[in-house]
Amino acid sequence: MNLLKLAILGVFMVSQCMAQDFSNYQTLLSKGDMPDDFKLLASEKYKNEVADIKKENNSKKDKKRKKNFALESNFAITDMMMSGRVIYGDALGDYVNKIADLLLKDDKKLRKELRFYILKSTVANAFSTNQGMIFITTGLIAQVENEAQLAYIISHEIVHYTKKHNYEQFKKREAILSKAGRSSTVTIEEKLRSLYKYSKNNETEADEKGMELFLKTKYNPYAAISSFDVLLYSYLPYDIIEWKPSVFETDYYKFPENYTDMKLTEISADEDEDDEQHTHPNIGKRKTNMVTMLENEEADSNGKSWYLVSKEEFTRVQKIARFELASLYIKSGNPAKAYYIAYLLDNTYGANTFTDKIKAMSIYSLSHHLTHDDNLNDYGCEDDDYEGDVQLLAKFFSKLKDKEFSILASKYLYEMSIKYPGDNQLQRMRDQIFTDMLVLNKVPKSGFTNYIPPTADTTKAGNSKVDKLKSKQKNKNKTEKYYYAAFYDLLKDKTFKNYLTSMSKGVEDAEDTDNEEEDVEVIKDTKTKKKGGFAKEEKEKKHDEIVSLVIFNPDYNARYNDKVYLLEDEETQNEISNYYKTEAARTGVDLSIIDKTDKDNFDTETFNKFALLNDWLIERVSNDTLTMELYQKEFITYAFKDYKTKYLGWTGYKYTESRREFEPMALVGSLLLYPLFPVYLHWQLSKDKELENLLLVYDVETGKPVLFDYHSVNKRPKGLTIQAIIYNQLYDLKNGK
Ligand SMILES: [Zn+2]
Repeated sequence: MNLLKLAILGVFMVSQCMAQDFSNYQTLLSKGDMPDDFKLLASEKYKNEVADIKKENNSKKDKKRKKNFALESNFAITDMMMSGRVIYGDALGDYVNKIADLLLKDDKKLRKELRFYILKSTVANAFSTNQGMIFITTGLIAQVENEAQLAYIISHEIVHYTKKHNYEQFKKREAILSKAGRSSTVTIEEKLRSLYKYSKNNETEADEKGMELFLKTKYNPYAAISSFDVLLYSYLPYDIIEWKPSVFETDYYKFPENYTDMKLTEISADEDEDDEQHTHPNIGKRKTNMVTMLENEEADSNGKSWYLVSKEEFTRVQKIARFELASLYIKSGNPAKAYYIAYLLDNTYGANTFTDKIKAMSIYSLSHHLTHDDNLNDYGCEDDDYEGDVQLLAKFFSKLKDKEFSILASKYLYEMSIKYPGDNQLQRMRDQIFTDMLVLNKVPKSGFTNYIPPTADTTKAGNSKVDKLKSKQKNKNKTEKYYYAAFYDLLKDKTFKNYLTSMSKGVEDAEDTDNEEEDVEVIKDTKTKKKGGFAKEEKEKKHDEIVSLVIFNPDYNARYNDKVYLLEDEETQNEISNYYKTEAARTGVDLSIIDKTDKDNFDTETFNKFALLNDWLIERVSNDTLTMELYQKEFITYAFKDYKTKYLGWTGYKYTESRREFEPMALVGSLLLYPLFPVYLHWQLSKDKELENLLLVYDVETGKPVLFDYHSVNKRPKGLTIQAIIYNQLYDLKNGK
């Protein structure tokens, strides 16, 4: 059993109280008993809230509005919480809870009302809900400079809760919406955003009242001021460490100057940015306001501290959050950023197995995608996303041509596979990249074996015509075909020499033409489909006979004349889940549903399993349909071991009384609107009834999509209709049709 598997086992069984093993870092998972916030259905939370609203002494109009708010907010928040990216009982949540205990030690009642959860997100953010939940992202914990800053941000969020700012915002939004007519195109994501966007006045109030709360503690009050700077720069990675392509270079393998010397964009963050267009007051104003407040309060930092819980715990928790970032980036199809975070981690904490693996995976993924005609901008190389020195990373990766990248990646992965001889996945990745290089990119082996470093025969260099021409040729090669130097050192090693020979066996040693157009021509024949995947022939192709399958709760949403009925959707969704059970029995398909609504069986272990499978699916979909090694391959093998199948499916139903073009990739794309998975689609207007459904099935062993089954009928989502669809779907599945 390799280390990775051992570590995964640890996550589930033994490591509940063990210190985090950073060499084999695993994603954060939930621990302990599942809180009610996760157990209850959105409709149950809503009904509980309605019961309270009824008791209130408010006008009928107010009550109605409150009920609407309870409906929308509970459904949006529950969707997010059940996305698999919100966790409970983990080390980060424990730490945040301890800070909350200190902030609210004089207000036991309020402390009891609040629940703190960690949202695994690369974005630095915190937000509270009307229901008393406060979410802190791993991205925020990765960025704050000390515990006191985090404590101030939590104080600020507590005020948003006590002042019910999101309800206030909802009232305003309702007023706007009713003016404009209720919009039908509001996605869940937009809904969440509008729920958590406060007015400038709300923010100022949260800043000020948050400060009052903060000043009662022994935290250094100046942390509040510096926390604004942390937020200002939080769109940048958690640290700025210069990166140079020289990390890949050797004495011989060197990139031409124009690869490393590129114009970069300056850091653009400006605290005095004009705030007219923003809902938040600018950071400069907020800071000045807080400084004035501190002066008026005559606050001083005597006897105050940056840490009250403990500096050790802060450091440990922050390290976890930062490791999580690398994992989140690689899982959401952003290898370039994952690579940079791993590079930062090396510099901050020292390189280890995990960061090596992330870097190898990132280089592998970028090179493999590029070889298969994918645009690296879709995989984190968009240089607009970077500012300052880091931008060189994106620009450098973007500059490399297929051939060059696969040479770089081959060298890198070969070295990593030697460093970790027991890691089978690294070996598979290495082999695939060598194949990309030798076969698809037609890099001739002789290019490497014939390479002579410029310095090797300087003694012989003379002034004859031949010498001059030779030297000119050499210099030309030095810049144009610099890449043939990549294996010069490695070729001295017999094992590598043999490896290269065996990998290039059967490959004709093609002329290196450096003719890009020709290269593209050849590659198009052999390369897989372009982005968009799921080409037509794949639909018609007979697939594996799938007799057993694991699926998540089917997704369901409906729209009647532009109106959404969340409660009814939830009911229908549960009905569909049940139909799957009965129809599976009828067709003889061994179907396991990871049912988040099945309270008797949905516990922390199932929740974690769901989160792992969901993450895998997100990684799979984020990488389009390209056949490749996925970072989470080992994890899913473990999470899947109780199921006697290798097939994982996702299914969604959508009913609308309006017709629009169905775009399969929009549905797949909506899976990526992390963290709102499964998410909702673009609805386009018209009038008709249409029930659509999609079933995607993946082979988790190979990572390949095996089935893309889409149906559409002009019928209402009544029991028999849905049952028939499911019966046919499962029958075809089983019979490989
Ligand atoms: Zn705020």
